[in-house]
Amino acid sequence: MIIIDGKHTAEEIYSELRKETEKIVSSGKRPPSLVAILVGNDPASTHYVRSKEKIAKKIGFSSQTIHFPISITQEELLQEIKKLNNNPDIDGYIVQLPLPKHIDEQEIIFAINPDKDIDGFHPLNLGKMLVQSEGFLPATPYGILELIKRYDINTVGKKVVIIGRSLIVGRPLSILLNQKHVGGNATVCVAHSKTKNLKKLTLSADILITALGKPEFVTADMVKEGVVVIDAGINQIEDKNSAKGYKLVGDVKFDEVSKKASYITPVPGGVGPMTIAMLMVNTMRAYKNKIIS
Ligand code: NDP
Repeated sequence: MIIIDGKHTAEEIYSELRKETEKIVSSGKRPPSLVAILVGNDPASTHYVRSKEKIAKKIGFSSQTIHFPISITQEELLQEIKKLNNNPDIDGYIVQLPLPKHIDEQEIIFAINPDKDIDGFHPLNLGKMLVQSEGFLPATPYGILELIKRYDINTVGKKVVIIGRSLIVGRPLSILLNQKHVGGNATVCVAHSKTKNLKKLTLSADILITALGKPEFVTADMVKEGVVVIDAGINQIEDKNSAKGYKLVGDVKFDEVSKKASYITPVPGGVGPMTIAMLMVNTMRAYKNKIIS
């Protein structure tokens, strides 16, 4: 069994990006720049945004978090987005989700300049993905695809079962793995909460990808011998032995499923670090697109 080490792969990507940034800066140009918009004080969102900023700085990007109070209105947030869209010094930005309930998330995402949409959530970028035209891929599916490529996992003609059909993980991933390219050409089935006889389906999977957000949902009796398991789930469960009082687990019961798997991602340290890494790859692409155009 091989552990797919997302942390290590992300570090490889950072080292590649750092070298590229050093070259850019030594040629007298400014480095790529990104911004994160954070609304409110949700601890998970604050943690993600801080990690993104830290990593961006580590690879030489210029990075900034713009923090707004939870009381910001839809109109005020749209105005801030307009400013970022028109600021030539910002190559890409993200709006950290989820937003407070009084904000219409879709309207905010639609307002992002697609050329700066490094999260790849704008419908233009999702459409470009569908027709295989160059755009920004959503970071988590992109990270999973990158892991598949870098670990040389054969997907051609394989049966992939994805549990979860959200717009940020399961649905775009199903498209990417089905398309004709390296890391694609698989036969993909997407399960969701209304899927009947899920176990029969997961037992038929050569590659099982979980993105449902249910701690340790997939058990050893649900997978076949030799399966490749990619677990995108990040769930907090109580852990009295930890100082924080909780620990992070995936959607897969790692200890037992790993005994049957040929490849498996751990949680933490699997898909999670790749999401931030691909955000940085998208930022570099946004920068280059701007410099070249
Ligand atoms: P959503 O809640 O948006 O989607 C969950 C999906 O799982 C839905 O399609 C839902 O079905 C399906 N589902 C829920 N319960 C079941 C079930 N019992 N059987 C089958 N399908 C089920 O979640 P996200 O996609 O946003 O996130 C999923 C997980 O991935 C979370 O743990 C999240 O923290 C993690 N995540 C990790 C990231 C990373 O960087 N690694 C990035 C983004 C998310 P239905 O559509 O019918 O409701």
